[in-house]
Amino acid sequence: MREEPAVDIVGLVKRYGPKTAVDGLDLSVDRGAVTAVLGPNGAGKTTTVETCEGYRRPDAGTVRIFGLDPVADAPALRPRVGVMLQSGGVYSGARAEEMLRHTASLHAHPVDVDLLIERLGLGSCGRTTYRRLSGGQQQRLALAMAVVGRPELVFLDEPTAGLDPQARRATWDLIRDLRDDGVTVLLTTHYMDEAEQLADDVAIIDGGKVIARGTPEELCRGGAENTLRFGGRPALDLASLLKALPADSTAAELTPGSYRITGKVNPQMLATVTSWCAQNGVMPDRISVERHTLEDVFLELTGKELRA
Ligand code: ATP
Repeated sequence: MREEPAVDIVGLVKRYGPKTAVDGLDLSVDRGAVTAVLGPNGAGKTTTVETCEGYRRPDAGTVRIFGLDPVADAPALRPRVGVMLQSGGVYSGARAEEMLRHTASLHAHPVDVDLLIERLGLGSCGRTTYRRLSGGQQQRLALAMAVVGRPELVFLDEPTAGLDPQARRATWDLIRDLRDDGVTVLLTTHYMDEAEQLADDVAIIDGGKVIARGTPEELCRGGAENTLRFGGRPALDLASLLKALPADSTAAELTPGSYRITGKVNPQMLATVTSWCAQNGVMPDRISVERHTLEDVFLELTGKELRA
């Protein structure tokens, strides 16, 4: 029998008064993968994650975590699921290390607290109370608390927001290690490079729905056309070149001797262009292929305008 997905959301609807924050969202997350949920401000990411964590109840639709209900089955899920809270849930007078050791003691097989403190660079602030930690230290402590119990699934809501580059790298390394240990990670982020670096799978959410899904490579490939540029002698016969290329390609001479081809830029197209050059006595130079980044795809799908 096939294993239940780690997270299975079907037709989730969540309203705040007249505002529909999540509008029939479907998302299934396989075990052992890192899935990044991307979306503009107000897209419904946090609401979705909080519903998975059992902090909110769906108005319609279902959410299952390892086949269980996040609210009704919370006691069974608690030892299996780690949650990184943005803020709150922590007594602000408690010391960082004490808090972490206490959380570890509530779990049957916690990870080594000293190692975790070292990995996340929390050694120098172990005796500092939560309220006196810097924003970045609070953030790292929250991550440590989420993973110290050796969960099977971790929810990370913007885990690296506001972190300095070193802490960001340390967080990425920790997330990679979690994946290597078979932990399922669902993270929300506004950093496209973070999703490209870490995620096996990306879901782009807008208007409370998933509008695109796939690996970062699939999304970048499936997005708009890519671009091939090359230099050659000026005034090449582009009409003849276009005849050799697939129908949806374009070719333009941007400045004398500088050419841009758009379309499905793949090894076949590159070979067609260089072979056309060879047949026409053109030595192409400065050949470059510009791949679309996840950020290009994200902006294309969600629009470039700032939302109100
Ligand atoms: P961000 O990237 O800004 O964190 P998000 O994708 O996480 O955004 P949510 O926080 O889920 O989005 O919010 C979705 C919508 O629901 C927004 O329009 C937001 O204003 C609204 N909303 C969220 N929480 C509440 C609440 N407690 N009461 C009323 N409206 C809310």
